[in-house]
Amino acid sequence: MNADTAAENTADHAADAPGARTAVVTGAASPRGIGRATALLLAEQGWNIGLLDIAPCDTLAAEIVAAYNVKAFSVTADVSDEPAVRTAIDHLESALPPLAALANIAGVSSPVPYLELTSDEWHRVINTNLNGVHYVTRRVAESMVRHNYGRIVSISSTSAQRGGGTYSKTPYSVAKAGVIGLTRALARELGPHNITVNAIAPGPIATEIMGGPLTPERRTALTADLVVNRIGEPHDVASAIAFLLSDDSSYITGHTLNIDGGLYMH
Ligand code: NAD
Repeated sequence: MNADTAAENTADHAADAPGARTAVVTGAASPRGIGRATALLLAEQGWNIGLLDIAPCDTLAAEIVAAYNVKAFSVTADVSDEPAVRTAIDHLESALPPLAALANIAGVSSPVPYLELTSDEWHRVINTNLNGVHYVTRRVAESMVRHNYGRIVSISSTSAQRGGGTYSKTPYSVAKAGVIGLTRALARELGPHNITVNAIAPGPIATEIMGGPLTPERRTALTADLVVNRIGEPHDVASAIAFLLSDDSSYITGHTLNIDGGLYMH
């Protein structure tokens, strides 16, 4: 775990005002990903931003500090490594205002058919997409309980609800279904501490996670299953995350919100 310090030296900002709060965003390193869009939108809305990714996010942190009147700090850690996660969140907490929101966005895809699946692949996906959400949430929740306030959003997938059907297969669906179970159980346990916990289930979003950029042919094929006549963009998911992390969402918890162009109606 390395702490990237490029953006910690923010000066004289509104972020220092009493009541200033920090949103932790995992998985924001990807240049066209949901995490980056989320971090930028939350910063635009006035959140101070703590970034955690397996890849360095110091450039994004510097970009946020330069563009918005907030603090940003980034740490590099693998979400599937619990001790590294705990150290990384310790760093974020010591560098930033109180941790009040968490967006669990880091994740990996896995297109391997079940009968070709190795044990290593199974554990890689579960460790990142489910255990990683638990490790980050567990550490951040400890801080939220101390402050008696919190908003947690974790990214599931329509893959959990439909048994795959887009790109990733079994371990991905299992991990993302686990995120929904984790969300509901935590909503119940953390509710008395004024912490809400929700999940978002995106449908196909135009990022790199489905094996690289989407060709026009793949976009057409993926759109055929949708009610809205387009593939989703990272901002579609980021805006839903921002709402669920806002004070306005205080009566919503244990919920899974589909951002999927109508792919899964239930
Ligand atoms: P992406 O590949 O662009 O971004 C994933 C990010 O997670 C990257 O920044 C990567 O570095 C980080 N990451 C991966 N493994 C990590 C680890 N072990 N520790 C820390 N960080 C790690 O993908 P995206 O589409 O932006 O995906 C974001 C989330 O949305 C993922 O959880 C994904 O499963 C979920 N999702 C995406 C789609 C879609 O169609 N794009 C649909 C449903 C759900």
